[in-house]
Amino acid sequence: MRPAHLDLLLSPINKLKGVGPKLENIINKLGIKLNVHFLWHFPYRIIEKKYYENIHDAPINQLVTLKIEVVKHYPSKFRRQPYRVTCLANETPIDIVYFNARHPFVRSVLPVKSIKMISGKLEFFKNKFQITHPSSIENITDIQLLREKEPVYSLTAGLNMKSFIKLSNQVLQSVPDLDEWIDKILIKKYKFTSWKDAVEKLHNPNIDDTYSEKNFYRRRLAFDELFAHQLAICIIRTIDNRKKSISFKSNDKFRNNLIQNLEFKLTNSQLTVLNEIQSDLLSNKQMIRLLQGDVGSGKTIVALISMLTVIEAGYQVTLMAPTSILAYQHFENISKLINKLPIKIDILTGKDKGRGKLDKLKKIKNGDTKIIIGTHALIQEGVDFNKLGLSVIDEQHRFGVYQRMAFNYKGFRPSILVMSATPIPRTLTLAAYGDMNESRLIEKPIGRKPIKTSVLTLKKEKNLLERVGNKIKNSNDKFFWICPLIEESQELDLKAATDRYNSLNKLFKNKVLLIHGQLNEKDKEATMEKFKNEDYRILVATTVIEVGIDIKSATTIIIEHAERFGLAQLHQLRGRVGRNNEESYCILLHKENINGTAKKRLNIMTETNDGFVIAEEDLKIRGPGEILGKRQSGLPSFSVADLSYDGDLLEEAKLNAEKIINNDPKLENNKNLRDLLYIHERDTAIRTLNAG
Ligand code: ADP
Ligand code: MG
Repeated sequence: MRPAHLDLLLSPINKLKGVGPKLENIINKLGIKLNVHFLWHFPYRIIEKKYYENIHDAPINQLVTLKIEVVKHYPSKFRRQPYRVTCLANETPIDIVYFNARHPFVRSVLPVKSIKMISGKLEFFKNKFQITHPSSIENITDIQLLREKEPVYSLTAGLNMKSFIKLSNQVLQSVPDLDEWIDKILIKKYKFTSWKDAVEKLHNPNIDDTYSEKNFYRRRLAFDELFAHQLAICIIRTIDNRKKSISFKSNDKFRNNLIQNLEFKLTNSQLTVLNEIQSDLLSNKQMIRLLQGDVGSGKTIVALISMLTVIEAGYQVTLMAPTSILAYQHFENISKLINKLPIKIDILTGKDKGRGKLDKLKKIKNGDTKIIIGTHALIQEGVDFNKLGLSVIDEQHRFGVYQRMAFNYKGFRPSILVMSATPIPRTLTLAAYGDMNESRLIEKPIGRKPIKTSVLTLKKEKNLLERVGNKIKNSNDKFFWICPLIEESQELDLKAATDRYNSLNKLFKNKVLLIHGQLNEKDKEATMEKFKNEDYRILVATTVIEVGIDIKSATTIIIEHAERFGLAQLHQLRGRVGRNNEESYCILLHKENINGTAKKRLNIMTETNDGFVIAEEDLKIRGPGEILGKRQSGLPSFSVADLSYDGDLLEEAKLNAEKIINNDPKLENNKNLRDLLYIHERDTAIRTLNAG
């Protein structure tokens, strides 16, 4: 039983005041599902917006707060014209300016004659004060609520900063005091403060710490997470070692049947890897294997063939994908490939509800369904298997997911195959997964040509569009046009992509589609299908197409503001083309005047198509970056720890965890470590302790 003092932290966010089903959904998109996840979602910036009684004292180009009276509205008359609201700050005129504004919205937040406290960047433009897109507008009565410093969190559409902070504070205000679980020596060595202190100081904007001081707090929590992870690995290894896995005996009937009916010949590399996996499956030890191979190297078919061995031996298999689009894609492809075999396959995602879902769950539990494809929904409560033999995990999940998959089934330990298109350095896999074996697909299916990559400044856009136009006229080629992720706001993101869509659609009427992260899954899928099957030629997308989208007729990918992407991510994106034998192209558009390092990074992309080389070079060049910011590497990740900064902590956590579990394998003298395992959701380890 989980200790009661952790109830608040570990309950789902819908128990918070003001969170209904709709808001819950939106916040879930940030990866925040339990209250404790609010703690890991740090502000990436603190803004200061000092209040100035007199506007003439206020600094230009900084965030300020002013008291204003609304005078008159000048709504925009055409698209590019801003919406202007004239106001007075004391006696001095100031304009509040909006671009692309929804008129009713502006009217409602700034009614004429009202007096408001307004915050935003103060500008001086054409001899007049102005604030463009104010960050907050409050009624004068709320003045005491208006803090001069505010944390800034990364958000998602439909969520504003004010309500996010309110919710986050609800959790922060009731954070319990937990007994220390880190060794005194380590606390001193790394200058860690207590858990609660670290959490509070990271979120509290009024603490005037520098980034490097803040980093000590973050590192404390990063250590916790890595420590919990290592403890979980150690516990599961030592306590659960007695349990054997199954030796999957089969006559290779299914397997051979599939291989014979393939339209292509497996590459040598695929055959080698299949043998490696097969010998694991035949042994009676649990397989934990990482299958690494570049985008397009044919990992899926390897996974499927391996699954067939397990199924023929009488067991079920799962394939877990990071998004439901990908899950559906796998589902379709695999359904086709096995349609001559007597194997039932189904898909389970977050979309399944009600009776339909119950029905699916029943068939999974009684063993009818042999292949279950899905998303995270697969590891949720209520999903019981009859005989789960193998779990395949496809790309980019958080570390820790595989542990939950591995112990989902009580009778024995299912084998695990993790597939990754992003090469993971050996030291890292060891630390993050424990003893994991590795297979690599080193050759591309025959006939694949390297993708011709070029780097262009946005200045050359016109040129490029002419060439695209010619291709659209003279061939059937399809194009991906990727607009970048903007860290702070998916709304701006969407705006950039929408603008691009509009301008392309003007040039190429009825040939362009738009897809982005805020569409629901159904619309995303519908758009993909339309692009695939109808005469649309350009798909404008935010990075939603990053993982696994397989549209063979797309031969060119254009990536706008390529300088904002990580190289691993660019490589992943680039892999969306070059999926057939035609020449394919990747065009990296960057803003003018990027610095030398940025240019160097992009040039690596033109020099090699080898993901392993790109990953190494990227690690070499990538600077310390913004420590409290978000990551873009495409590697699986932890919630708080970042292995590019916290490698030292990982080593320390590993040694420490091993020492503790050696001396106290059941954590009988270290009860507070159970708290740690719970708050970092490594409680499968606790279940193992209780069962063992
Ligand atoms: P990834 O490794 O990126 O997951 P996939 O498994 O999606 O790659 O494979 C990419 C494409 O290559 C698929 O359409 C698949 O059918 C095809 N493919 C896989 N193996 C071969 C092969 N040996 N020869 C030709 N095509 C192959
Ligand atoms: Mg894949």
